[in-house]
Amino acid sequence: MSIIELKNIRKSFGTIEVIHDISFSVKKGEVVCIIGPSGSGKSTLLRCINGLETYQGGEIRVHGDRVDTASKSIRRIRTRVAMVFQRFNLFPHMTALENVAEGPIYVKKEPREKALEHARELLTRVGLAAKADSYPPQLSGGQQQRVAIARALGMQPDAILFDEPTSALDPELVGEVLAVMRSLAAEGMTMVVVTHEMGFAREVADRVLFLDGGVLVEQGPPEEVLSRPQNPRTQDFLRRVL
Ligand code: ADP
Ligand code: MG
Repeated sequence: MSIIELKNIRKSFGTIEVIHDISFSVKKGEVVCIIGPSGSGKSTLLRCINGLETYQGGEIRVHGDRVDTASKSIRRIRTRVAMVFQRFNLFPHMTALENVAEGPIYVKKEPREKALEHARELLTRVGLAAKADSYPPQLSGGQQQRVAIARALGMQPDAILFDEPTSALDPELVGEVLAVMRSLAAEGMTMVVVTHEMGFAREVADRVLFLDGGVLVEQGPPEEVLSRPQNPRTQDFLRRVL
């Protein structure tokens, strides 16, 4: 069963088309990694999937529901597909615990006590039980990103989209975030991960997509796309990053 389905997606900013006819789907429990040079459209594609951006052509469906920013179902789709950003995007004036519980309380209308209890469990799951009462500025980048992952999980999403979740981190903090993502993958979470971490993609991805200039150039299992890329553009990109 496909949780996310993109068919012939086209996206323009003004008169410039930045996503050209992209189709792919993501099944339940699948981990799809998207790689590609800066400016190739990776973030824009993720933002279209959870309705943060409109698209001009084709169709995106989440669990069969059409992603249409103008429709009433968009709020429901956004709660089903969580997003983790490069720059954490936590509320600085709220504790880690409050950051995780905020969505369940205000968006999902869960009772406060129950939401706080669940938020504590989620912080434990990402290894941050001891930091529940800390504010984001008191946490390292790696800890903030783990809070952001706990917050995404708090919405009990069907899938999580990650947009370069480790790119803003000091190198020594990358591992702790990737470890949490690995454990989510092992638990069967459906994930779409834009990343430059080729080791992670090789190890965790079921499928790797290579984007270049808004075109989905190549896709397949990591051992094919990363080790034996067929397309010269993929070969050239990998030569530069590996
Ligand atoms: P990536 O995430 O792969 O680096 P992006 O999705 O951020 O690429 O950008 C894809 C293209 O769309 C780039 O040419 C970028 O300049 C353009 N773009 C992204 N966001 C906007 C925007 N809000 N307005 C205009 N152009 C944009
Ligand atoms: Mg980007």
